[in-house]
Amino acid sequence: MMPHKQTEFIHTGQEIDPATQAVTPPIYRATTYHQADPWNPPTYDYARSGNPTRHAFEAAMASLEHGSRGMAFSSGMAALTAAFMLFSQGDHLLVTRDCQGGTQRVLRGVFSRFGIHANYVDTEDLNALEAALTPKTKAILVENFSNPFLHVTDIARVSTWAHGHGLLVLVDNTFITPYLQNPLDLGADIVIHSATKMIGGHSDITAGVAVTKDEDLGRQLYFIQNACGAILSPDDAYMSLRGLHTLPVRMEQAQKTAQLLAQFLLTHQDVHTVYYPGLPSHPGHDVARDTMRGFGQMLTIRLHHAEQVPGMAEHLALARVGAGFGGTETIVSLPELHCHAALTPEERTERHITPDVVRISVGLESAADLIQDFQQALTASRL
Ligand SMILES: *Cc1c(COP(=O)(O)O)cnc(C)c1O
Repeated sequence: MMPHKQTEFIHTGQEIDPATQAVTPPIYRATTYHQADPWNPPTYDYARSGNPTRHAFEAAMASLEHGSRGMAFSSGMAALTAAFMLFSQGDHLLVTRDCQGGTQRVLRGVFSRFGIHANYVDTEDLNALEAALTPKTKAILVENFSNPFLHVTDIARVSTWAHGHGLLVLVDNTFITPYLQNPLDLGADIVIHSATKMIGGHSDITAGVAVTKDEDLGRQLYFIQNACGAILSPDDAYMSLRGLHTLPVRMEQAQKTAQLLAQFLLTHQDVHTVYYPGLPSHPGHDVARDTMRGFGQMLTIRLHHAEQVPGMAEHLALARVGAGFGGTETIVSLPELHCHAALTPEERTERHITPDVVRISVGLESAADLIQDFQQALTASRL
C-alpha cells in the first residue's frame, strides 16, 4: 500500500526506538560512545560525525524527499553553504534571481573570495538560463517559490535542460516543503530546506537540511558536513522531527486561509498587486497547479502607496511583523528591512523590491479574523 502524503509524515522513515520501544526518538546528548572493540567501531563514535536523534530526523527527511541520504545542519544557511562547498575555484553557478537575501550574501561575501561566482537569473525562463550559461557553469540553484514574488519554476523542465548541459540541479524547497512537491522526483540532485520555517513550524528552532538523490553525492556532502561541522543539535533535531508530524495539517489549513486572504486583498482598493500562485492571474499559476500539490502559505502584496505600509504594519493586531515565516502565527515581513536587507538598495530596486512590497506568511488563525485584521489595518492606515 502506498500511504497518503499525510500518513507518510507520521510514519515514513521513522522507527520505534529499538532500545525502549518509545514512539518518539530519545534525545541523545552524548558526544562520545564507548568502543568495546575499537578496531571494529560502532555506528556512532563522535557526535559531530553522527547522532541517533539527528539521524532520526535525517532518515525521515530522506524518505519524505525520496532521496538516498539526508543531512541536518544548524541552519538553512549552513545546509546551503555545505552544498556550495561541493564546488571549486573557477566554478560558476546559476541562481534564481529573486532568491532570499542570505543566499546572495554568502555567495557574494564569502564564496566569491574563493573564486566561486554566481549569476542571478529568472530560472523559470529557459532562454534566460541559456544566455547566462558559461563554459564554467557547474550547477543551478532554483529557489521555489521565489522570494518575495513567488515565481514558480518547473523543476522537471529545468532539470532536463540543466542535465543536458552537465549541470547539477539544487533546489531550495523551503517555501514549498516536501508536502507540496518532491524536487528529487522531478530530476533535481539535491533538495535543501531551511527547517527554521515550515518544517519546525513554530518559530522556535533554527535548522537546515539537505537531501541528495544518489549515494555518491550523499557521500560527498556528508564528508563536507563532518569536515566543516555545522551539524544540527540533538534537541533541535528532535523538534524538527516533531514539526514534520504536523506539517501536512498545518499546510492544508494555512494554504486554505492564504487563498481566502489573497482573494480578499485582490479586491481591496489600497492593494495594487497580489502575488499568490493560487490566483489564476499569477504568472506561475498553471505550473504550480500542474506540478505541486497545493499553492502554499506565502503571499506578497504591493500597495498603491508605499507611505501606507508603516501605518498598516503598526495597526495589525494579530499578524506579527518581522523576519521569518512558516510559524503558527501570521508574520508580515517588509522585504527591504527583513528578507532582502542583505541586498544593496540598487539591487533591490532592480528586483522591484521597493518599500510598497509586503510579504505575508499566513498562519493558523481563523481566516475570518485575519481578513478582518488586514481590513482594519488598511482602513486605519489609509492616507
Ligand atoms: C530562511 C531561508 C534560508 C536560510 O535559512 P536559515 O535557517 O535562516 O539559515 C534559506 N533559503 C530560504 C528560501 C529561506 O527562506
